[in-house]
Amino acid sequence: MSKYLGPKCKLCRREGEKLMLKGERCNTGKCAIVKRNYPPGLHGPKGRTRQSGYNMQLREKQKAKRIYNLMEKQFSLSFSKAIKQKGEAGENLMKILETRLDNVIYRLGFAPSRAEARVLINHGHFKINDFKVNIPSFNVKTGDIIKIKQSSRNSQQFNSLPEKLKKIDIPGWLNLDLKDLSAKVLHQPAKENFEAKINSQVIVEFYSK
Ligand code: SF4
Repeated sequence: MSKYLGPKCKLCRREGEKLMLKGERCNTGKCAIVKRNYPPGLHGPKGRTRQSGYNMQLREKQKAKRIYNLMEKQFSLSFSKAIKQKGEAGENLMKILETRLDNVIYRLGFAPSRAEARVLINHGHFKINDFKVNIPSFNVKTGDIIKIKQSSRNSQQFNSLPEKLKKIDIPGWLNLDLKDLSAKVLHQPAKENFEAKINSQVIVEFYSK
C-alpha cells in the first residue's frame, strides 16, 4: 500500500489548520501553523483565495483523508462501505474511520499520532480479544478488548505510557484500564465522539457529484 512520504506540516498549511499529524510537536511553538499559517509555495504568503462550492467539498475530503492518514483509494473504499450501510452516509463514514484500529490506538493515547499508531500495529504490538492484530484498518466492534502485548510493555515505546495516559482525554465510547494497559469498546462512536474538524456532510456532497 503506497503512502504519503512528503512533509506532514505542508498538509496542515494547505488546509490552513492544525491536523495534528506529528504528535507532541503539534502542541508546541514549532508547529508550522503557528509559524507560517499560509499555503505552501515558493513565494511566501499570498492569502487564501475564496473557495467555490466544489473546491470547499474537495478540501473537506482531503482534510479528512489527511487527518486519518489514508490514501485516496483507502478513503474512497471507506466511503463506498459507508453508503452500503443503513443510515446516514456521512455518519457511517465517520464511524468507519473512528473505529479503525490505528485511530483507536491514537485515541487511547497508546501512540502520539495516527501515523505512529500504524507503525506500532504493523510491528504486532497489540492484541484484540487475545489475538494478535497487525492490520491498521481493522474496525473494532462493541465489546472488543484491545491490549498492548505483554512482551511489548517494557519496550521503549510503552515504558513511560502509564504517566502519559493520565493526561489523555479518552473518548466516551472507549474505556481504558490504566493498570492493565487495555481498553474496552463500550459502544460504537456517536456524533459527539467524531473528529470535530470534519464536516462529513460536505464529503458526502463531494462524492455525490
Ligand atoms: Fe500540523 Fe503538527 Fe506540523 Fe503543526 S506540527 S503543522 S499541527 S503536523
